Amino acid sequence: MRFNKSLDAIKTYETGKPIELVAREYGVEPKDIIKLASNENPYGTSPKVSEAVKSVIHKMCLYPDDSMYALKGGLAKKYGISTDEIIIGSGSDQIIEFAVHAKLNAQTKVLMNSVTFAMYEIYACHVGAQIVRTKTREHDLEEFYQLYLEHKPAMIFLCTPNNPTGDAIDVEALKAFLSKIDAETMVVVDGAYMEYAAFKDEKKAVRPKELIESFSNVLYLGTFSKAYGLGGMRTGYGIASKEVISALFKLRPPFNITTLSLEAATVALEDETFVNTSIQKNFEQMKRYEIFAKEQGIEIIESYTNFVTLCLNEGQNSSDISLSLLKKGMIVRDLKSYALNAIRVTVGTERENDRFFDLFTAAAKN
Ligand SMILES: *Cc1c(COP(=O)(O)O)cnc(C)c1O
Repeated sequence: MRFNKSLDAIKTYETGKPIELVAREYGVEPKDIIKLASNENPYGTSPKVSEAVKSVIHKMCLYPDDSMYALKGGLAKKYGISTDEIIIGSGSDQIIEFAVHAKLNAQTKVLMNSVTFAMYEIYACHVGAQIVRTKTREHDLEEFYQLYLEHKPAMIFLCTPNNPTGDAIDVEALKAFLSKIDAETMVVVDGAYMEYAAFKDEKKAVRPKELIESFSNVLYLGTFSKAYGLGGMRTGYGIASKEVISALFKLRPPFNITTLSLEAATVALEDETFVNTSIQKNFEQMKRYEIFAKEQGIEIIESYTNFVTLCLNEGQNSSDISLSLLKKGMIVRDLKSYALNAIRVTVGTERENDRFFDLFTAAAKN
């Protein structure tokens, strides 16, 4: 069968390998498998959330509240914005999809960082848009601006902190950049890891309210999958001017998240202690990776997230090392497909990180 030509350019998104698959393929007991590949919260989910989800199980037969009243109310309060400046998605991934379908087509261009979240490219390919990338590994807003002038893209993706490199943009520089961009160009600011960045460094803390008050063309993205520990609930959101949000709403299928997800996300927002404790432990454990990298003589990119990117030395091959870790039940992300000889490792619990250090040391020796 022939399919749309635009599909030819798409490489299927590779998720972190699921535990079940590693158990089957490598014969490791599921209980001995550690997954540090998808930047999930290693401390799980707030117990208050688990309780709340159990309490709404009986509502599974009903469609969810499509106005998403409680969740939008919680987000509006958290960010000091109004509920009509918010759209909820099945993960913030779905909001990226809406945004691309709202702005891009085969006659337009989209600008993104050299190394960044793979879904931007995949969605852009859906509509045949032309992709323009910077050359620098970390976001360089001057380079972005030059490419913007040259290509006049309909859309720009800024991922701060960036996945898979962990670097973050200074808010002042971000605002200065935005003030030079035409209001017709949509700028997506993906803050999937913003809770981590804001904790580590005030200069990196993007406040969506400030952005959307000053810039009608900005779409900020947040998610419950990372710091809130709800990857399995597939809930994310977009924040933008009412004009942008109403355009995105036209692309939204009804009931795009589940009754259980709605409840989970709403309650997760209320348990700030859980999130803050997770973030604090994350950076305590991250220090150990910094020390480890130094001992191993490998580069670690300064990270504002819950993962670290280890850039390997010549003579070390990220695919070989990832594979030997996998055989021992340690799942990390090989960044070969991003043209980096590097691995991305989610910062786990103390015990998980101990295991990583041991296995990596052994794998790097061979
Ligand atoms: C994880 C992630 C997302 C979205 O995840 P969802 O689970 O779809 O909400 C978006 N952007 C980046 C950069 C991410 O790492």
